[in-house]
Amino acid sequence: MSSRQRFFVQPEAVQNGSIRFSRDQARQMAAVLRLGPGSTVTALDNSGWQYEVKLDAVSGVEAVGTIRTRTLVTSEPRTKITLYVGLIRAPKLEIVLQKCTEIGVAAFVPLVAQRCVVQPNDELSPAKVERWQRIIAEAAEQSGRGKLPVLMPAVPFNQACDHARGFSLMLWEGEHETPLREALERAASERPAARRAKGPTPRPFSVNVFVGPEGGFTDEEAQRARQSGIQLVTLGPRILRAETASVTVAAAILYAQGDLG
Ligand code: SAH
Repeated sequence: MSSRQRFFVQPEAVQNGSIRFSRDQARQMAAVLRLGPGSTVTALDNSGWQYEVKLDAVSGVEAVGTIRTRTLVTSEPRTKITLYVGLIRAPKLEIVLQKCTEIGVAAFVPLVAQRCVVQPNDELSPAKVERWQRIIAEAAEQSGRGKLPVLMPAVPFNQACDHARGFSLMLWEGEHETPLREALERAASERPAARRAKGPTPRPFSVNVFVGPEGGFTDEEAQRARQSGIQLVTLGPRILRAETASVTVAAAILYAQGDLG
């Protein structure tokens, strides 16, 4: 992965062999990165392609460049993790969004659970959502992701249980039987052989993971999840904070699937 500066652009920004960057990106190029005509940057169109772009013009308000090469991005994990994370205080949630984007999570869904101390109305102002999307984009650019993780609107817990399709796990501090590893191994052995790729790691693979808020999930929520077919798993005997649990489970799943190198 080159250390060249990367920018996600809208598909319509790519036209006739050139790329027009957003106003914010132009400002960043000119004022922060001190890039000028002749500098080379990488643009990503969020569909899996990356472009090597030589800048033709950069001002504080506009940046345009010519596409030199187009290649497929190979950094995306085959394993698609959707992280349903209890609505926690903004600074902690921002850590989750930033770190889990770096690690390789595909989508985030803030979860309104019984023990959330934060209420969605307090937290989910358009300005805040925009800030969170910016945090995700910056982390994705910095870490060399090929696709921007999606930030979904917050959903009530029960609705999330109904909507989480396919293989779904809930990290529950009250679970003492099934470790994460066992649930992943069982899922791998149950997957139809035809869909398994060669080698020891079955992939691609989608998984929904529920992580509770600061106060954890209630027994009632754990019960509700189980009824919806969501498997309850433990991350071991130490209780992690919600943000630590989110980062840990993302890394552990991608590692188990061979997506972490
Ligand atoms: N306040 C709770 C802990 C909440 S930790 C208590 O003291 O019991 C926040 C969330 O992180 C939990 O809801 C769970 O989803 C996850 N988590 C943290 N440690 C865990 C562990 N050892 N096993 C499974 N889940 C864990």
